[in-house]
Amino acid sequence: MTLSFDPGSLALPVGHFIGGRLIPAEGVIPMQRPSDGESAGFCPLADAGIVDQAVENARAALKSSGWGAVAPRDRTRAMQAWADLIEADVAVLGRLEAVSSTRLISQVPPFDIGVTAEQIRFFAELADKECGALVPTRDASLGMIMDEPIGVIGAITPWNFPITMAGWKLGPALAAGNAVVLKPSELTPWSAIRLAELAVKAGIPAGIINIVLGDGPVTGNALTGHPGVGKVSFTGSTGAGQAIMGNVARTGIKPVTLELGGKSPQVVFADADIALAARCIAGSILFNAGQACVAGSRVLVEESVAPALADALIAHFTAVKPGKTWEEGGDFSPVISSRQIARMDGIIGAARDQGAEVLTGGAQMDRPGYYYQPTILAGVTQNSPAVTEEIFGPVLTFQTFASDDQALQMADHPTYGLCSGVYTKDLSRAVRMTRGIEAGTIWVNRYGRSRDHVLPTGGYKSSGIGKDLGREAYHANRRSKSVLIDL
Ligand code: NAD
Repeated sequence: MTLSFDPGSLALPVGHFIGGRLIPAEGVIPMQRPSDGESAGFCPLADAGIVDQAVENARAALKSSGWGAVAPRDRTRAMQAWADLIEADVAVLGRLEAVSSTRLISQVPPFDIGVTAEQIRFFAELADKECGALVPTRDASLGMIMDEPIGVIGAITPWNFPITMAGWKLGPALAAGNAVVLKPSELTPWSAIRLAELAVKAGIPAGIINIVLGDGPVTGNALTGHPGVGKVSFTGSTGAGQAIMGNVARTGIKPVTLELGGKSPQVVFADADIALAARCIAGSILFNAGQACVAGSRVLVEESVAPALADALIAHFTAVKPGKTWEEGGDFSPVISSRQIARMDGIIGAARDQGAEVLTGGAQMDRPGYYYQPTILAGVTQNSPAVTEEIFGPVLTFQTFASDDQALQMADHPTYGLCSGVYTKDLSRAVRMTRGIEAGTIWVNRYGRSRDHVLPTGGYKSSGIGKDLGREAYHANRRSKSVLIDL
């Protein structure tokens, strides 16, 4: 089957998905296709009334279907069937993903769809394995920690990996016996609706997954502040995470999981395999054109191997093949918007003015759409915005260090702590760096998540609170009740 498609030919599910069916709604938020800058249609905007309808449907569905109370294996079976349908749905789900996002249709089946299906299976399998505990008490009593679903989870996701991010939220929440009201990004709303349709087809009760479309200030705000939502699970920028914490605090008390931004260092020592390090670094910042929270956007390299690493990186950076998201053949994505192009120009321009040297790239590509040349900036200082700000594009800063202590000091970011790469053949040094770097994930002699979904993901400092993936994500969607029975 050819994956390429005509973006104008797709039937878009313009509406909200509530109670197991599409509720058509007028599209009002203009969307653009990053690949050519043309209109991608209009996204509806759910107001507080629609959000309320979705939350009430979710609560009613929990009660009527018993989703949180059935034998956990029943949830496992339904979710496994859902994962199978997701995997088989490239023709519709894959195209709805690629039509308005930066995800290349050739990468969507193995990554966005394949990984998501695997993660849903991982969480489905946890449903009947994780449990509460009997605790030691006096002989005359029985102490238990009962583990229960929370109720309705309010989930909000970003545009950079729409299906995958929805899967991160829906997988653990559903396995743990909750219902979800999900608000995807207004820039990439369509694939979430299809995921929900497939869930109903797979036997997950109608109303357990509800999708409301809209922006942050109206729809997102109504969702995070809704009293019927028992927990907020958010992935997006640190600024929006702060706003959400504020709104949750103003409107009530509920747990929040926040997966936020990063500015992750990649520390390369002289004893490292330089070809491997270059491959990993290039992969991390070129995949989805650097629009990944975990993008390893700051290279710190020991002075003696800096020229060799720079040459190897430039070779990778100049070999990319930009492609439209709906055409097979390319391997390099556009960035999401013209605003993002202007922002990158601004940060790179400011760095140049402060004396930075552009080793490669540094400008928009000369072609339609929002493609930016893979860029390496050397000679940047620690306080340059190029080094401190999350750029969210294919832009790498390149700095050198002279000692392990200096590497550690430079790796430390004033606010972010999402992840880090370390490249060395010296095991002791790898462990010292792993202990010293403040980040939620450290990769040694590799960069990026594997398909070992048991590893939790989440940030330190302003990169977030709590974990997605792993058993931690399942438990973050449960709450515990202590019971003491006198016999
Ligand atoms: P964003 O924060 O602009 O938007 C994310 C989502 O939040 C969107 O659905 C948006 O509509 C909504 N939103 C915005 N303001 C809101 C508010 N006040 N209340 C409720 N909802 C609100 O982020 P983005 O541009 O879509 O995505 C890029 C960001 O996401 C980057 O910072 C990236 O690092 C981060 N991200 C983090 C992870 C992680 O796991 N840590 C994963 C992917 C992306």
